[in-house]
Amino acid sequence: MAAIQVLKPKFHVEECLEQVRECLEKGWTGMGFKTVEFEEAWKKYTGHKYAYYLNSNTVGLHLAVKQLKMKYGWAEGDEIISTPITFVSTNHAILYEGLRPVFADVDEYLCLDPEDVERKITDKTRAVAFVGYGGRVGQLEKIIGICKKHGLRLILDAAHMSGTKVNGVCPGTWDGVDVTVYSYQAVKNLPTGDSGMICWADEEQDKLTRQLAWCGINKDTYARSNKGTYAWKYDVDYLGYKYNGNAIMGGIGLVQLKYLDEDNARRREIVKRYNEAFAGNDKITIIPANYPDECSYHLYELAVPDREALLNFLSDRGINCGVHYRDNTEYSLYDYAQGTCPKAHEISQHLITMPLHMWLTDEDVESIIQGVNEFVK
Ligand SMILES: *Cc1c(COP(=O)(O)O)cnc(C)c1O
Repeated sequence: MAAIQVLKPKFHVEECLEQVRECLEKGWTGMGFKTVEFEEAWKKYTGHKYAYYLNSNTVGLHLAVKQLKMKYGWAEGDEIISTPITFVSTNHAILYEGLRPVFADVDEYLCLDPEDVERKITDKTRAVAFVGYGGRVGQLEKIIGICKKHGLRLILDAAHMSGTKVNGVCPGTWDGVDVTVYSYQAVKNLPTGDSGMICWADEEQDKLTRQLAWCGINKDTYARSNKGTYAWKYDVDYLGYKYNGNAIMGGIGLVQLKYLDEDNARRREIVKRYNEAFAGNDKITIIPANYPDECSYHLYELAVPDREALLNFLSDRGINCGVHYRDNTEYSLYDYAQGTCPKAHEISQHLITMPLHMWLTDEDVESIIQGVNEFVK
Protein backbone atom coordinates (compact mmCIF):
# COMPACT_ATOMS: atom_id res chain seq x y z
CA MET A 1 0.00 0.00 0.00
CA ALA A 2 1.33 3.43 -0.94
CA ALA A 3 2.07 5.77 1.96
CA ILE A 4 -0.54 8.37 2.84
CA GLN A 5 0.77 11.89 2.20
CA VAL A 6 -0.02 14.88 4.37
CA LEU A 7 -0.88 17.18 1.43
CA LYS A 8 -1.41 16.07 -2.13
CA PRO A 9 -3.09 18.12 -4.85
CA LYS A 10 -5.68 16.57 -7.13
CA PHE A 11 -5.92 17.95 -10.62
CA HIS A 12 -8.69 17.46 -13.14
CA VAL A 13 -6.06 16.38 -15.62
CA GLU A 14 -7.98 16.16 -18.88
CA GLU A 15 -9.68 19.51 -18.39
CA CYS A 16 -6.40 21.15 -17.36
CA LEU A 17 -4.67 19.74 -20.43
CA GLU A 18 -7.44 21.11 -22.60
CA GLN A 19 -6.78 24.60 -21.17
CA VAL A 20 -3.05 24.25 -21.72
CA ARG A 21 -3.68 23.03 -25.28
CA GLU A 22 -5.78 26.12 -25.97
CA CYS A 23 -2.91 28.34 -24.81
CA LEU A 24 -0.36 26.47 -26.91
CA GLU A 25 -2.54 26.41 -30.03
CA LYS A 26 -3.32 30.08 -29.71
CA GLY A 27 0.35 30.81 -29.15
CA TRP A 28 -0.43 32.75 -25.96
CA THR A 29 1.15 31.39 -22.81
CA GLY A 30 2.11 34.62 -21.02
CA MET A 31 0.14 37.32 -19.28
CA GLY A 32 -3.36 37.99 -20.65
CA PHE A 33 -5.93 35.64 -22.19
CA LYS A 34 -6.46 32.98 -19.46
CA THR A 35 -5.06 35.27 -16.75
CA VAL A 36 -7.81 37.79 -17.49
CA GLU A 37 -10.45 35.04 -17.63
CA PHE A 38 -9.25 33.72 -14.29
CA GLU A 39 -9.31 37.18 -12.69
CA GLU A 40 -12.92 37.60 -13.84
CA ALA A 41 -13.91 34.14 -12.59
CA TRP A 42 -12.24 34.80 -9.23
CA LYS A 43 -14.01 38.14 -8.81
CA LYS A 44 -17.32 36.46 -9.57
CA TYR A 45 -16.64 33.63 -7.14
CA THR A 46 -15.35 35.76 -4.25
CA GLY A 47 -17.19 39.05 -4.66
CA HIS A 48 -13.91 41.00 -4.75
CA LYS A 49 -14.20 44.13 -6.92
CA TYR A 50 -10.61 43.91 -8.16
CA ALA A 51 -8.29 40.99 -8.75
CA TYR A 52 -4.89 40.77 -10.38
CA TYR A 53 -3.24 37.45 -11.17
CA LEU A 54 0.34 37.00 -9.95
CA ASN A 55 3.03 34.36 -10.08
CA SER A 56 2.69 33.77 -6.31
CA ASN A 57 1.16 34.96 -3.09
CA THR A 58 4.62 35.97 -1.83
CA VAL A 59 5.03 38.63 -4.50
CA GLY A 60 1.48 39.81 -3.80
CA LEU A 61 2.30 40.34 -0.14
CA HIS A 62 5.36 42.31 -1.22
CA LEU A 63 3.25 44.57 -3.46
CA ALA A 64 0.68 44.96 -0.68
CA VAL A 65 3.30 46.27 1.74
CA LYS A 66 5.10 48.33 -0.89
CA GLN A 67 2.02 50.08 -2.22
CA LEU A 68 0.61 50.86 1.21
CA LYS A 69 4.03 52.25 2.15
CA MET A 70 3.98 54.44 -0.99
CA LYS A 71 0.44 55.65 -0.43
CA TYR A 72 0.74 56.43 3.26
CA GLY A 73 4.37 57.59 3.25
CA TRP A 74 5.68 55.01 5.69
CA ALA A 75 9.36 55.20 6.63
CA GLU A 76 12.03 52.54 7.03
CA GLY A 77 11.75 51.05 10.49
CA ASP A 78 8.01 51.57 10.75
CA GLU A 79 6.25 48.54 12.17
CA ILE A 80 3.71 46.01 10.97
CA ILE A 81 2.18 43.66 13.51
CA SER A 82 2.25 40.09 12.27
CA THR A 83 2.04 36.49 13.42
CA PRO A 84 4.91 34.17 14.28
CA ILE A 85 2.87 31.13 13.16
CA THR A 86 2.90 31.38 9.39
CA PHE A 87 4.90 30.58 6.31
CA VAL A 88 7.83 33.03 6.29
CA SER A 89 6.55 34.93 3.23
CA THR A 90 4.10 36.87 5.40
CA ASN A 91 7.00 38.33 7.36
CA HIS A 92 9.55 38.50 4.55
CA ALA A 93 7.17 40.82 2.68
CA ILE A 94 7.47 43.30 5.53
CA LEU A 95 11.26 43.12 5.53
CA TYR A 96 11.45 43.50 1.72
CA GLU A 97 10.31 47.09 2.23
CA GLY A 98 12.59 47.87 5.17
CA LEU A 99 9.73 47.73 7.65
CA ARG A 100 9.86 45.80 10.91
CA PRO A 101 7.68 42.81 11.75
CA VAL A 102 6.49 43.06 15.34
CA PHE A 103 5.02 39.78 16.46
CA ALA A 104 1.77 39.39 18.36
CA ASP A 105 0.63 36.16 19.95
CA VAL A 106 -2.02 33.78 18.62
CA ASP A 107 -5.41 32.71 19.93
CA GLU A 108 -7.05 29.27 20.04
CA TYR A 109 -7.57 29.44 16.25
CA LEU A 110 -3.81 30.00 15.74
CA CYS A 111 -4.74 33.41 14.31
CA LEU A 112 -3.66 36.78 15.73
CA ASP A 113 -5.01 37.46 19.20
CA PRO A 114 -6.71 40.90 19.19
CA GLU A 115 -5.73 41.66 22.77
CA ASP A 116 -2.06 41.05 22.14
CA VAL A 117 -2.22 42.97 18.85
CA GLU A 118 -3.52 45.98 20.72
CA ARG A 119 -0.77 45.62 23.35
CA LYS A 120 1.90 45.57 20.63
CA ILE A 121 0.80 48.84 18.98
CA THR A 122 3.39 51.65 19.24
CA ASP A 123 3.59 55.09 17.62
CA LYS A 124 5.47 53.40 14.75
CA THR A 125 2.78 50.81 13.98
CA ARG A 126 1.30 51.26 10.50
CA ALA A 127 -0.53 48.03 9.72
CA VAL A 128 -1.51 44.52 10.77
CA ALA A 129 -0.82 41.46 8.63
CA PHE A 130 -3.46 38.84 9.45
CA VAL A 131 -3.16 35.22 8.31
CA GLY A 132 -6.39 33.24 8.01
CA TYR A 133 -4.52 30.24 9.33
CA GLY A 134 -5.72 26.89 8.02
CA GLY A 135 -8.55 28.80 6.31
CA ARG A 136 -9.93 29.96 9.66
CA VAL A 137 -11.32 33.45 10.15
CA GLY A 138 -10.39 33.62 13.82
CA GLN A 139 -11.06 37.03 15.31
CA LEU A 140 -10.55 38.99 12.11
CA GLU A 141 -13.58 41.15 12.81
CA LYS A 142 -12.09 42.36 16.09
CA ILE A 143 -8.74 42.98 14.42
CA ILE A 144 -10.52 45.11 11.80
CA GLY A 145 -12.09 47.09 14.64
CA ILE A 146 -8.68 47.65 16.23
CA CYS A 147 -7.20 48.78 12.91
CA LYS A 148 -10.02 51.28 12.42
CA LYS A 149 -9.68 52.58 15.97
CA HIS A 150 -5.92 53.13 15.62
CA GLY A 151 -5.83 54.19 11.96
CA LEU A 152 -3.89 51.10 10.83
CA ARG A 153 -4.06 49.38 7.43
CA LEU A 154 -5.00 45.70 7.24
CA ILE A 155 -3.31 43.15 4.98
CA LEU A 156 -5.02 39.76 4.79
CA ASP A 157 -2.75 36.86 3.89
CA ALA A 158 -5.44 34.55 2.56
CA ALA A 159 -3.04 31.88 1.29
CA HIS A 160 -5.13 29.24 3.10
CA MET A 161 -8.54 30.84 2.55
CA SER A 162 -9.64 29.92 -0.98
CA GLY A 163 -13.29 29.06 -0.45
CA THR A 164 -13.61 30.26 3.16
CA LYS A 165 -16.82 32.23 3.65
CA VAL A 166 -18.82 33.67 6.51
CA ASN A 167 -22.56 33.68 5.86
CA GLY A 168 -21.71 33.22 2.21
CA VAL A 169 -19.30 36.18 2.11
CA CYS A 170 -15.50 35.98 1.63
CA PRO A 171 -13.90 37.73 4.62
CA GLY A 172 -11.36 39.33 2.27
CA THR A 173 -14.19 41.51 0.96
CA TRP A 174 -15.13 42.84 4.40
CA ASP A 175 -15.03 46.56 4.94
CA GLY A 176 -11.73 47.49 6.56
CA VAL A 177 -9.57 44.94 4.73
CA ASP A 178 -7.26 46.98 2.47
CA VAL A 179 -5.88 44.09 0.50
CA THR A 180 -6.30 40.31 0.33
CA VAL A 181 -3.69 37.99 -1.15
CA TYR A 182 -4.47 34.38 -2.14
CA SER A 183 -2.11 31.55 -3.03
CA TYR A 184 -2.62 28.88 -5.70
CA GLN A 185 0.71 27.22 -4.95
CA ALA A 186 1.02 23.50 -5.65
CA VAL A 187 -0.55 22.18 -2.44
CA LYS A 188 -3.03 24.92 -1.58
CA ASN A 189 -6.82 24.37 -1.77
CA LEU A 190 -6.88 25.68 -5.31
CA PRO A 191 -3.65 24.27 -6.69
CA THR A 192 -2.13 25.40 -9.98
CA GLY A 193 1.66 25.05 -10.08
CA ASP A 194 2.62 28.34 -8.56
CA SER A 195 0.50 31.47 -8.66
CA GLY A 196 -1.53 33.86 -6.58
CA MET A 197 -4.08 36.68 -6.67
CA ILE A 198 -4.03 40.14 -5.14
CA CYS A 199 -7.39 41.75 -4.47
CA TRP A 200 -7.41 45.41 -3.49
CA ALA A 201 -10.43 47.19 -2.08
CA ASP A 202 -9.31 50.34 -3.90
CA GLU A 203 -9.27 50.82 -7.69
CA GLU A 204 -6.17 53.06 -7.73
CA GLN A 205 -4.18 50.43 -5.88
CA ASP A 206 -5.33 47.76 -8.33
CA LYS A 207 -4.15 49.93 -11.22
CA LEU A 208 -0.78 50.50 -9.58
CA THR A 209 -0.38 46.75 -8.99
CA ARG A 210 -0.94 46.10 -12.72
CA GLN A 211 1.95 48.42 -13.43
CA LEU A 212 4.34 47.43 -10.64
CA ALA A 213 3.86 43.72 -11.33
CA TRP A 214 4.83 44.25 -14.96
CA CYS A 215 8.20 45.98 -14.63
CA GLY A 216 6.58 49.38 -14.11
CA ILE A 217 5.22 49.47 -17.65
CA ASN A 218 2.07 51.54 -17.82
CA LYS A 219 0.18 49.45 -20.38
CA ASP A 220 0.16 45.71 -20.49
CA THR A 221 1.06 43.69 -23.58
CA TYR A 222 -2.35 42.19 -24.00
CA ALA A 223 -4.08 45.56 -24.10
CA ARG A 224 -1.43 46.82 -26.52
CA SER A 225 -1.74 43.81 -28.82
CA ASN A 226 -5.27 44.93 -29.63
CA LYS A 227 -4.37 48.55 -30.26
CA GLY A 228 -2.47 48.55 -33.55
CA THR A 229 0.45 50.76 -34.47
CA TYR A 230 1.39 52.51 -31.24
CA ALA A 231 1.66 49.20 -29.39
CA TRP A 232 5.34 49.72 -28.61
CA LYS A 233 4.82 53.18 -27.17
CA TYR A 234 4.61 52.74 -23.46
CA ASP A 235 6.10 54.66 -20.58
CA VAL A 236 7.96 53.29 -17.58
CA ASP A 237 7.59 55.50 -14.55
CA TYR A 238 8.26 53.04 -11.70
CA LEU A 239 10.96 50.52 -10.95
CA GLY A 240 8.56 47.58 -11.16
CA TYR A 241 8.93 43.82 -10.92
CA LYS A 242 8.21 40.76 -13.02
CA TYR A 243 5.43 39.43 -10.80
CA ASN A 244 2.60 38.69 -13.24
CA GLY A 245 0.91 35.33 -13.61
CA ASN A 246 0.76 33.45 -16.93
CA ALA A 247 -1.99 31.98 -19.10
CA ILE A 248 -0.99 28.34 -18.58
CA MET A 249 -1.31 28.60 -14.80
CA GLY A 250 -4.46 30.71 -15.25
CA GLY A 251 -6.02 27.99 -17.40
CA ILE A 252 -5.33 25.37 -14.74
CA GLY A 253 -6.73 27.77 -12.13
CA LEU A 254 -9.97 28.12 -14.10
CA VAL A 255 -10.49 24.37 -14.03
CA GLN A 256 -9.57 23.95 -10.37
CA LEU A 257 -11.86 26.83 -9.35
CA LYS A 258 -14.85 24.94 -10.76
CA TYR A 259 -14.19 22.18 -8.22
CA LEU A 260 -13.16 24.32 -5.24
CA ASP A 261 -16.47 24.18 -3.37
CA GLU A 262 -16.85 20.46 -4.01
CA ASP A 263 -13.27 19.83 -2.84
CA ASN A 264 -13.72 21.95 0.27
CA ALA A 265 -16.95 20.10 1.08
CA ARG A 266 -14.99 16.84 1.06
CA ARG A 267 -12.37 18.44 3.32
CA ARG A 268 -15.12 19.41 5.77
CA GLU A 269 -16.48 15.88 5.73
CA ILE A 270 -13.05 14.49 6.66
CA VAL A 271 -12.56 17.16 9.34
CA LYS A 272 -15.94 16.30 10.84
CA ARG A 273 -14.88 12.67 11.12
CA TYR A 274 -11.50 13.62 12.64
CA ASN A 275 -13.18 15.94 15.14
CA GLU A 276 -15.64 13.25 16.25
CA ALA A 277 -12.87 10.71 16.60
CA PHE A 278 -10.49 12.91 18.60
CA ALA A 279 -13.05 14.77 20.74
CA GLY A 280 -13.02 12.09 23.43
CA ASN A 281 -9.22 11.95 23.71
CA ASP A 282 -8.20 14.38 26.44
CA LYS A 283 -4.51 14.27 25.44
CA ILE A 284 -5.38 15.80 22.08
CA THR A 285 -6.22 19.44 21.45
CA ILE A 286 -8.23 20.05 18.29
CA ILE A 287 -7.66 23.47 16.71
CA PRO A 288 -11.22 24.80 16.34
CA ALA A 289 -12.76 26.79 13.49
CA ASN A 290 -15.30 29.41 14.52
CA TYR A 291 -17.18 29.00 11.24
CA PRO A 292 -16.76 25.24 10.74
CA ASP A 293 -19.27 24.94 7.91
CA GLU A 294 -17.58 27.60 5.82
CA CYS A 295 -13.90 26.99 6.52
CA SER A 296 -11.65 25.95 3.64
CA TYR A 297 -9.70 23.70 6.04
CA HIS A 298 -6.44 24.10 4.23
CA LEU A 299 -4.74 22.41 7.20
CA TYR A 300 -6.02 20.14 9.95
CA GLU A 301 -3.80 20.21 12.99
CA LEU A 302 -3.77 18.62 16.40
CA ALA A 303 -1.70 19.60 19.40
CA VAL A 304 -0.34 16.47 21.10
CA PRO A 305 2.08 15.97 24.04
CA ASP A 306 4.88 14.32 22.06
CA ARG A 307 4.70 15.33 18.44
CA GLU A 308 7.99 13.77 17.26
CA ALA A 309 7.04 10.40 18.68
CA LEU A 310 3.62 10.49 17.00
CA LEU A 311 5.17 11.55 13.69
CA ASN A 312 7.52 8.55 13.84
CA PHE A 313 4.85 6.12 14.96
CA LEU A 314 2.51 7.08 12.12
CA SER A 315 5.30 7.18 9.58
CA ASP A 316 6.12 3.53 10.42
CA ARG A 317 2.52 2.77 9.52
CA GLY A 318 2.82 4.51 6.17
CA ILE A 319 1.05 7.67 7.33
CA ASN A 320 3.07 10.81 6.70
CA CYS A 321 2.01 13.77 8.78
CA GLY A 322 3.66 17.16 8.73
CA VAL A 323 4.54 20.24 10.75
CA HIS A 324 3.24 23.70 9.79
CA TYR A 325 4.83 26.03 10.89
CA ARG A 326 7.74 26.64 13.20
CA ASP A 327 7.44 29.74 15.34
CA ASN A 328 9.11 32.25 13.00
CA THR A 329 10.99 33.85 15.90
CA GLU A 330 13.07 30.65 16.09
CA TYR A 331 14.67 31.57 12.75
CA SER A 332 17.86 33.68 12.87
CA LEU A 333 16.26 36.38 10.75
CA TYR A 334 13.50 36.97 13.30
CA ASP A 335 15.20 35.93 16.54
CA TYR A 336 15.14 39.53 17.81
CA ALA A 337 11.53 38.76 18.72
CA GLN A 338 12.18 35.55 20.67
CA GLY A 339 10.07 35.37 23.81
CA THR A 340 7.50 37.92 22.65
CA CYS A 341 4.80 35.35 21.82
CA PRO A 342 4.82 32.66 24.52
CA LYS A 343 1.54 30.99 23.49
CA ALA A 344 2.58 30.67 19.87
CA HIS A 345 5.97 29.34 20.93
CA GLU A 346 4.50 26.73 23.25
CA ILE A 347 1.79 25.38 20.95
CA SER A 348 4.04 25.34 17.90
CA GLN A 349 6.14 22.63 19.61
CA HIS A 350 3.11 20.37 19.75
CA LEU A 351 1.33 20.88 16.45
CA ILE A 352 1.09 18.07 13.96
CA THR A 353 -0.60 18.43 10.57
CA MET A 354 -2.84 15.49 9.72
CA PRO A 355 -3.35 14.33 6.13
CA LEU A 356 -6.18 16.25 4.48
CA HIS A 357 -6.70 16.20 0.73
CA MET A 358 -8.80 14.85 -2.12
CA TRP A 359 -6.94 11.54 -2.45
CA LEU A 360 -7.88 10.30 1.03
CA THR A 361 -10.41 7.49 1.11
CA ASP A 362 -12.72 6.91 4.07
CA GLU A 363 -10.57 3.86 4.88
CA ASP A 364 -7.43 6.03 4.93
CA VAL A 365 -9.15 8.40 7.34
CA GLU A 366 -10.14 5.53 9.65
CA SER A 367 -6.62 4.10 9.67
CA ILE A 368 -5.18 7.54 10.50
CA ILE A 369 -7.66 7.95 13.35
CA GLN A 370 -6.91 4.48 14.66
CA GLY A 371 -3.17 5.15 14.60
CA VAL A 372 -3.46 8.44 16.46
CA ASN A 373 -5.86 7.18 19.12
CA GLU A 374 -3.77 4.06 19.64
CA PHE A 375 -0.60 6.06 20.25
CA VAL A 376 -1.89 9.12 22.10
CA LYS A 377 -3.59 7.97 25.28
C1 LIG B 1 1.84 29.24 0.97
C2 LIG B 1 1.80 30.44 1.81
C3 LIG B 1 2.33 31.66 1.38
C4 LIG B 1 3.10 31.81 0.11
O1 LIG B 1 2.36 31.47 -1.01
P1 LIG B 1 3.11 31.31 -2.42
O2 LIG B 1 2.01 31.36 -3.40
O3 LIG B 1 3.82 29.99 -2.37
O4 LIG B 1 4.06 32.44 -2.56
C5 LIG B 1 2.16 32.77 2.19
N1 LIG B 1 1.54 32.69 3.37
C6 LIG B 1 1.05 31.53 3.84
C7 LIG B 1 0.33 31.52 5.16
C8 LIG B 1 1.18 30.36 3.08
O5 LIG B 1 0.72 29.21 3.55
